[in-house]
Amino acid sequence: MRIDIATLFTDMCDSVLHESIVGRGIKNGFIEIYTHDIRDYTENRHRKVDDKPYGGGTGMVMQAQPVYDCVMDIISKHEKRPRVIYMSPQGETLTQEKVKELAAEDGLILLCGHYEGIDQRVLDELECEELSIGDYVLTGGELPALIVADAVARLQKGVLPNEDAYSIESHYNGLLEHPQYTMPREWRGREVPIELTLGNHEVISEWQRKAALRVTAEKRPDMHEIYMDRLVQEFWDGFISAKGLDDDTDYTQIFRVGSNEGESNRLLKRVLRGKKRATTCLYTDDDILPEKGEYCIITDWDGVPRCVTKVTRVQVIPFNKITLEQALKEGEDTTLEAWRDTHREVYARNAEQLDFEFSDDSKIIYEEFRVEYKE
Ligand code: SAM
Repeated sequence: MRIDIATLFTDMCDSVLHESIVGRGIKNGFIEIYTHDIRDYTENRHRKVDDKPYGGGTGMVMQAQPVYDCVMDIISKHEKRPRVIYMSPQGETLTQEKVKELAAEDGLILLCGHYEGIDQRVLDELECEELSIGDYVLTGGELPALIVADAVARLQKGVLPNEDAYSIESHYNGLLEHPQYTMPREWRGREVPIELTLGNHEVISEWQRKAALRVTAEKRPDMHEIYMDRLVQEFWDGFISAKGLDDDTDYTQIFRVGSNEGESNRLLKRVLRGKKRATTCLYTDDDILPEKGEYCIITDWDGVPRCVTKVTRVQVIPFNKITLEQALKEGEDTTLEAWRDTHREVYARNAEQLDFEFSDDSKIIYEEFRVEYKE
C-alpha cells in the first residue's frame, strides 16, 4: 500500500513517520509513505500558498492552484486513482472500522490544511472525502494525517511482528481490550490476576474474553450494548438457519440463570448438559406466563448467549404440590425435602419484597424446557 501526504510541513511528518514500528515497516518495504511539499507547486517567486479570505475575517486560506497541482502530480504516480482525503474537523470521525476500510485500499492521498483551511473549489474539484480525528480543532492537518497513516500502516501485513496483535486490540472487533500486565508478578502489593500466570491457554483466553467484556461495559457502555446486540443477533440467526425456521421466528426472553457468577456458571453447565430441564419461580397475579413452544435465549453471567431453549410445559401449582420428579428436573437437589428447604427460603425472601407472606400453599410457576441449540 502507498500513502501520500500533501502538506506544508514535510519535516514535521517525516520525523514521525521514520520512527519506531511504522518507520521499520517503511524501511522493510511493507508500506510506502511519501510526503509532498505543497509549496513546491506554487507559481510565484515567494512560494506563497495562502491569501486573505473572501468576505473578510481573520486568518489566511490555502489557495486552490498549488494544492491542485500537488495532488494531481501525486495521482499521476499511482496506477489507479487513489482516494483523496482532506483532513478536516468537518469530516466523518475516524473509527477503527474506517481504518480497516482505508487499510484495504492500494493507495491514499491525505491532504493537510493549515490556517483557516483550503479554498473550497479545489476540494470540490478533487472530489475530496473529509475525515476528522475528533470534534476539536487543531492548527493543521499534519497530526491528523499522521494518525491516519499510523493506524492504517499497522494493519498492513508485516508491519506488526504478530498480525494477531491488532485483531484483539481495542475497537477492532467492537470491544475494548482486556487489561495488560508485565513483570514483576507483585508490585506495591498488587498482584497480576492468577489466571494469567498459570500457563493454561484456555484459562488465559477465557479470562481475557471476560475482562474485555467487563472493561467495555464499564468504560464504554455504548460500545458494549452494540456489541452484545450483535452477538445475540448472530447467535439467534445461527439457530434459525441451523433449524431451518422462518426468519420471523422470535424469542420471548433472554436471561441468565443464577443470582451470582458462580451459581450462574454452575447452573448453565447443568442446562447445557441436559441435567437441568426445569425452572420454578414465585407466582403473582401480575405475572405473564410463558407459553408452551416459546423460545428463550440463556446467556452466561456476562450476557454472552449460550443456548436456545424451548418451553415444553408450564404449570402454576402450589409450592407443596411439586413432585419429586419435578424437583429433580430442576437439577439442583436430590430429594424433595432438600428442594423444599432451599426454595422455601428463596421464595420467602421474594414474597417479602413483594409485600406478602409466603406459605407452602403459595403458588409457583413450574416450567419445563428443552435445549434446542448451543454452539
Ligand atoms: N476553519 C476550519 C473550520 O472551522 O472548520 C478549521 C481549520 S483548522 C484551524 C486548520 C486545518 O487543520 C484544517 O484545514 C484541517 O486540515 C486540520 N484540522 C484541524 N482540526 C482537525 C480535526 N479535528 N481533524 C482533522 N483535521 C483537522
